[in-house]
Amino acid sequence: MEKNYGFFEKTLGERLKDIETRIRRAKIDAPLAPAHTQLMGASKMQTAETIREAIAAGLNWFGENRVQEAEEKWPVLKAEFPQVKLHLLGPLQTNKVKDAVRLFDGIQSIDRIKLADALADEMQKRNRRPDCFIQINTGEEKQKSGALPQDADALIAYVRDELKLPLKGLMCIPPERDYPAAHFALLRKIASAHGLDELSMGMSGDYELATRMGATIVRVGLALFGSRDGK
Ligand SMILES: *Cc1c(COP(=O)(O)O)cnc(C)c1O
Repeated sequence: MEKNYGFFEKTLGERLKDIETRIRRAKIDAPLAPAHTQLMGASKMQTAETIREAIAAGLNWFGENRVQEAEEKWPVLKAEFPQVKLHLLGPLQTNKVKDAVRLFDGIQSIDRIKLADALADEMQKRNRRPDCFIQINTGEEKQKSGALPQDADALIAYVRDELKLPLKGLMCIPPERDYPAAHFALLRKIASAHGLDELSMGMSGDYELATRMGATIVRVGLALFGSRDGK
């Protein structure tokens, strides 16, 4: 059942179509925009019911921030919709690595050697290899997770060449108060220096800009779901 978020407002399905159209339009006259930019629904604090509605509207890729919240919602959803992909976007503690490897199809928040080691061990044990992304703290914010830009080269080399994890690309969350373009440009520069294809960047307020600057994955929450009042 489609929910209406207010009298004049659109349904989730309509918002999804709008966002997809905006992503397509953003690619016009944008030489850095990739051929494919995938929309991921950032579904933190959305109920399973809302997520089902998004799946019914055609979305098949979601990102969650907390392992525990994802464990409450997703085992059932994944059994119901085996085609749907789920990534972890939020910080990962090493004591949650086991659960994360079991549940997620991708982990976008790898940011330190100790975590990479723990993931490598667990992936070997489970024989399950979720797609890996390194998160870069492009704004060098103290409270934010992510590897510092000056540590990126070494961490990328370690994760990909030493541990041989399936490293697909990089992720960043620009500081809230900054204009995001410089952060997207930095992420792109680091990724291309290492031949990494995937750039996970851009959220509700800046996914069109991110697309124009090379995002292959945009992570949209509020603009898609309308609010985060599900929980
Ligand atoms: C919440 C979140 C998003 C989506 O943010 P919106 O502003 O709701 O679009 C994207 N990425 C991460 C890591 C998030 O935590």
